[in-house]
Formats: sequence, C-alpha cells, structure tokens
Amino acid sequence: MDTPWGYPDYDAHEVVHFVDQPEHGLKAIIVIHSTHLGPAAGGARFWHYEDPADALTDALRLSRGMSYKNAMAGLPLGGGKSVILARPERHKTPELLAAFGKAVDQLCGRYITAEDVGMSVKDMVEVSRQTKFVAGLPNGASDVGGDPGPHTALGVFLGIKAAVKRALGKESVDGLHIALQGAGSVASGVAMHASTEGARLSIADIDEAKAKKLADAAGGTVVSPGEILFLEADVVSPCALGAVLNGETIARLKTPVVAGAANNQLATASDGARLMERGILYAPDYVINAGGIINVCTEYLGDGDAALVRERIEGIPTRLEQIWAESAASGRDPGVVADAMAQRLIGRG
Ligand code: NAD
Repeated sequence: MDTPWGYPDYDAHEVVHFVDQPEHGLKAIIVIHSTHLGPAAGGARFWHYEDPADALTDALRLSRGMSYKNAMAGLPLGGGKSVILARPERHKTPELLAAFGKAVDQLCGRYITAEDVGMSVKDMVEVSRQTKFVAGLPNGASDVGGDPGPHTALGVFLGIKAAVKRALGKESVDGLHIALQGAGSVASGVAMHASTEGARLSIADIDEAKAKKLADAAGGTVVSPGEILFLEADVVSPCALGAVLNGETIARLKTPVVAGAANNQLATASDGARLMERGILYAPDYVINAGGIINVCTEYLGDGDAALVRERIEGIPTRLEQIWAESAASGRDPGVVADAMAQRLIGRG
C-alpha cells in the first residue's frame, strides 16, 4: 500500500499541527483532514498514550472519520480532531486547557473543537476563554448546545427504527427485543425512547450498577457484558466501545440488525462484508451517531434552534436508507458504500 510520509493512516490530511508546551503541561496534536465543506470540526480527546505514535494514528483516523460524519450528516463542516496527550494520572489544569485554547485559536477558525473522550462541558468553557472556535458549551440564550448525548441517542433510535423497517418490515419497535451494549449517556437515551415505544430491552454494562439503574428506569433486564451481543434479539445496539464487530463476534450474532452509537464498531473494513454475508443489516456508525455533532454544529453556526436540530437529526434515517439501497443494488456492504458516498461529498471520490 502507498503510505505517503510513511504513515499508513495519512490520507492527504490538510494540517497536522504538533503542540509541545511543557511549561503549560500541554502536548497535543491537532489534525485537519478536510475543509472542503467548511471549517474542520471534531472534538478534543484527552487520553494517556503509552506511545505518542498512537496519538498521531488516532488523530489521523479520527479526523478523517469526522470529515465523513459531517459530510454524511449534510453539515457545512469539514473534519478535524485533536488529541491531548495526558500523563498517566490524566490530570488536567486550567493552564493546560488555556494553552490548548490558544493553540486552537492559532489555526484561525480552520479547526473547531468540542468535547470528546476525557473532556467535559466545563473544560470547553475553560478553552472558550482563549478562542471562539469552540462548541459544546452550556446552553446559552438559544436552546441549542450542551451535552450531545441525548441528540446522539435520538438519531440512533430513529436509525434503529429505519433498520427494523427495512430488515423486518416493522413500522415501530413495539414488542421488539433490543440488546443494548452499554448503559451510558447515549444508551440511556436510546433505552428511554425504545421503551416508550414498547420495545423489550436487555442491557449490559461493565458497571453493573449502571446497567441496573437504567434497566429499572426503562423497564429492561440486566444481562452480563459477555452475553449481550449474542442474545436472540431483533436489534443489537453497540453503545459502549469500538471494534466489537470482528470475525469471532460476527459469527456468533443472532440478530438481523446491528445499529448503535459506538464509534468504529467494525474491527476491520472487511467485517462489514462479514455482516452482509450473514444477512445482518448494519447501520454505519458515523452515520447513525451524528445527532451529537448536528447539535454541536447548529450551536456553533448559530443558524437554528432546537426544532432545526431535530429536523436535521430526522434526516439520519433517510441517509441510512440511501446507503442500504445502494448496498443492496451494488452488493457492496453498507460500510464501504457509506465511505464511498462520504468521499464523493468531500470531493475525493
Ligand atoms: P459513556 O461513557 O456515557 O457510556 C459508555 C458505557 O459503556 C459506560 O457506562 C461503560 O461502563 C460501558 N462499557 C464500557 N465497556 C463495556 C463493555 N465491554 N460492555 C458493556 N459496557 C461497557 O459514553 P456515551 O457518551 O454513551 O458513548 C457511547 C459510545 O457512543 C462511545 O463509543 C462514543 O464514542 C460513541 N458516541 C457518543 C456520542 C455522544 O454524543 N455521547 C456521539 C457519537 C458517538
């Protein structure tokens, strides 16, 4: 494979900005993959990497993922991402966040940051003291902003409904069995929407107390994390970790639909074809989980209210249906079809 600059994950990224400021405790990489559709938006990840090379790999991959996600959500945004290399104790200081905000500011709006793993709304408020190129702030005068989780959950729920319509011919999840992997922010929202519509829920989390709390609230059953993917269910919804769909797990699935929020669910690109060979309908993760970035984008651009956010999220099933239709017509799996569509949208097809 051709690997320009010696990095297999380099994909004509526009900017790779290294920030090294030991005096402020900041070591970060800000990557802009594409600004073809608008300024590059994507969260900041605060994570301890054993090897700094893994941080660069993460930033290159995640920023490209954001280009695809934003394009497929129909947003006027490109894709970027930043990773802040934390020390093992993952301690954050106001100085570090301020220095990060200044580094974002130096890119003059070509990159817009927001929360990702390890960064909170409170952290974004600190960052926003140094730059205006930030979103994911508390709800202000408008009713748009704040925690993206509930918006992601709405999009995932609507995506699940579209999938069961296509795979099972059902107009609603009433009476269907949904297996939720994870009981965190997004899974909780999905569970509440699904239970309101009459779905039967099985829920697993490595934090059993969290699973129990959600099962009590939404009326579901707690199962063990080892079992959840392999239940006889109508839908398996991975809402915890990435890379859960691989040769071994796909062979054991007993569901016609996989549709969930977790990023990078397919362990390798060929796992999409494995799902298709088994007749399992897969909702590409970065398409179904775009509700949060839709909310962040509307907040940042200030071009709409909660009603517009909802309308944009309601476009997620339409995009999924386009992907599944093209997949059925071409025989290519939905992951490959989605990537090709996204590449065309960002002018790289
Ligand atoms: P969260 O941290 O609130 O919840 C994740 C939950 O998964 C936690 O309760 C954790 O204990 C549980 N978990 C971890 N490993 C597990 C395992 N092996 N089995 C079962 N449970 C396990 O995160 P979230 O915000 O709900 O996000 C869930 C997923 O969706 C993540 O992959 C995230 O990257 C992705 N996502 C989230 C958003 C958002 O708006 N929050 C947007 C897009 C994508």
